[in-house]
Amino acid sequence: MASLNFDNRFIRELPGDPLTVNQTRQVNAAFWSIVTPTPVPHPQLIASSVEVAALLGLTPTDLQQPEWVAALSGNGLLDGMSPFATCYGGHQFGQWAGQLGDGRAISLGELLHNNQRWELQLKGAGPTPYSRRADGRAVLRSSIREFLCSEAMFHLGVPTTHALSLVLTGDAIWRDMFYDGNPKAEPGAIVCRVAPSFIRFGHFQLPAMRGELSQLNQLIDFTIARDFPHLSAEPAEQRRALWFREICTTTATLMVEWTRVGFVHGVMNTDNMSILGLTIDYGPYGWVDNFDLNWTPNTTDAEGLRYCFGRQPAIARWNLQRLAEALATVMTDQDILMQGIDAFDEVFAQEMGNMLAAKLGWQQWQSEDSELVNRLFDLLQQTEVDMTLFFRRLAYLDVTQPDLSLLTEAFYRDDLFVQHQTEFVQWFDDYSARVLAEGVVPEERAARMNQVNPVYVLRNYLAQQAIDAAEQGNYQPIAELLEVLRHPYTEQPGKAAYAQKRPDWARHKPGCSMLSCSS
Ligand code: AMP
Ligand code: MG
Repeated sequence: MASLNFDNRFIRELPGDPLTVNQTRQVNAAFWSIVTPTPVPHPQLIASSVEVAALLGLTPTDLQQPEWVAALSGNGLLDGMSPFATCYGGHQFGQWAGQLGDGRAISLGELLHNNQRWELQLKGAGPTPYSRRADGRAVLRSSIREFLCSEAMFHLGVPTTHALSLVLTGDAIWRDMFYDGNPKAEPGAIVCRVAPSFIRFGHFQLPAMRGELSQLNQLIDFTIARDFPHLSAEPAEQRRALWFREICTTTATLMVEWTRVGFVHGVMNTDNMSILGLTIDYGPYGWVDNFDLNWTPNTTDAEGLRYCFGRQPAIARWNLQRLAEALATVMTDQDILMQGIDAFDEVFAQEMGNMLAAKLGWQQWQSEDSELVNRLFDLLQQTEVDMTLFFRRLAYLDVTQPDLSLLTEAFYRDDLFVQHQTEFVQWFDDYSARVLAEGVVPEERAARMNQVNPVYVLRNYLAQQAIDAAEQGNYQPIAELLEVLRHPYTEQPGKAAYAQKRPDWARHKPGCSMLSCSS
């Protein structure tokens, strides 16, 4: 095994907590606390990602070595690792929540490989000074969901944190999954997440709210220097403006990407927003089966629908405004911050148009297209049509004589389709005319559509099946599912079962349609 090159800038360059005791507390004027992972009784590596290992210059076989299994389970440290938990705050469901911090995440260090920096972070490795009243642990079901979804998103081309490994701890963890007073013992697990940076909007909000302005200035300069190195060549007076603009535009891109693949994060609090525009903190997330802009997988949000599918872009913008308010305490030229939010609007509108045109097989977005798209979204929503199947099948529609039976498989309710048949026929006629007007060769159109409309996504029930098997001691389905998700845009022989619409039994089953935050 090659030697590892750790370079732990976060704890070297930013102020840390002078206390080293692992006890819940408020940590002022500091961004991190030293914390040692709590050892676990029987660590067992049950899954790993070959691509993420390669990013770090490793192979899955390296990870099976006892010293790596120990590191990935919190039972030991490799040379150069120096574990810490970070301090941040956040707005939760619209309310300022004060200090939150890494309550169950412990970073091991920043590994350099091929001129790239990768922070390794264990999730579920025991309590930290930020654990508040919780145990710092994670259950197997939520760890499988984070492991699989991180990699599914990566292979779909959606910006995300990565997952290197999934370890079973051998410990039992008590969770009240339904919040009904019936806690149950569940297997504990640890995921090792990997990203260039785990800095969140909330890292900036907390010092701003506390009036710790010199620390806030330090964090801004640090983030630009470490995570936005391409901005260091810019004149100092423009650097921060360009930096905030980039946070706004990468976040806009992320919202377009989530819309494209039908991903609903579920808890878009400002502490769950990455400064790099990555999908971060996989909790009660879900994938849209039947197209529904009002759908949220998160039971805690079932009434308010604050974080439902269709509201994610507006919420991202709201979160950026909260970040702008925090930055305004030290970036006194408010115009700069307003220009960043404007850039979010511009980039979002433009990329959303391009993305929709690509999904629908049009060469170029035209402003009149909104009408056709809105009509389609209304129809898909009213008639319960499977989003992934619909767009994938649409590529094969013969627009010279549109035959709707091609799409039958995408419908969940035949009765609703019959009710709306006239509107559908009209829509397909208008759509076909729009495609024909561009005069593109059908095979080329299909090939382009198939690059943006996946066959395989991590449907909620597929993840749940892998979880059910794992809870019975069978980890093979996790590997099998990951294997299919590695090539989401390519139809794979023998894998049709992974590309079907949600079966009826899964419609209301916990874990398949609704998820609690208990994890
Ligand atoms: P989330 O909504 O999952 O992103 O979590 C919000 C906050 O709660 C973060 O500060 C987490 O670190 C913390 N948290 C969630 N679950 C636990 C847990 N089991 N133990 C300690 N802290 C937790
Ligand atoms: Mg979080």
